[in-house]
Amino acid sequence: MRVVMRAALDLVAGVALPQLCAVCREPVEGAGLCAACWSKLSFIAPPYCERLGIPFAYETAPGLLSMQAIADPPAYGRARAAVRYDEIARTLVHALKYGDRLDLAPMMGRWLAQAGGELLAEADALVPVPLHWRRHWARRFNQSALLAAAVAKASGVPIAANALKRVKSTPQQVGLSRAQRAANIQGAFRVPAEGKAEVAGRRLILVDDVLTSGVTAEGCAKVLLRAGAHNVDVLVFARVAEGGRTSI
Ligand SMILES: [Zn+2]
Repeated sequence: MRVVMRAALDLVAGVALPQLCAVCREPVEGAGLCAACWSKLSFIAPPYCERLGIPFAYETAPGLLSMQAIADPPAYGRARAAVRYDEIARTLVHALKYGDRLDLAPMMGRWLAQAGGELLAEADALVPVPLHWRRHWARRFNQSALLAAAVAKASGVPIAANALKRVKSTPQQVGLSRAQRAANIQGAFRVPAEGKAEVAGRRLILVDDVLTSGVTAEGCAKVLLRAGAHNVDVLVFARVAEGGRTSI
């Protein structure tokens, strides 16, 4: 508990303390990641699918969509991710989520803000994907809210803290098919009465740590759009991205 408190205080104060690299555990000065591990991260840059943000293997015309985006268009508008979800990205996400490495949030948030620059320039507010209160209580913090706070700080786009609520605790999605995940998430999110004004007519960006099947983002976007959101984009730290295929 004390470690969490200190990490939270450091986060607030922006104090840089010498610590260990979150991936390789080598001591690093003032950052959560050493240069060697940083260079192994797979940052996502154009060219990518205008809609899903999945990187293309080769140069394309601007605005081109991936086959996935055309065959199965999401409820949300655009998705952007800072890095590919590989071994290094997974270690960082787990360190933030389960390892009390709250000090990683500002760094990861800056990368999100960079990846989502285009989206943030047009957005009214950020909506962190909420945890169910029981899980929130057990974990003591919501990693998506931490990332959203860091993105807000880097971009100036405020957080709509009451926009979305998780009303159903969903079991771990690992090992389930896409259809099973979708069924799981059904009815899990709601825009509460006190959040309606933060949603109606507004351009929102959903913030999460990882985009895997996209089922959670899809479920949240549908609920926000039904509550009258003007549009919903998605910004995550890492996304699963096998080589994207273009539509031509
Ligand atoms: Zn390292």
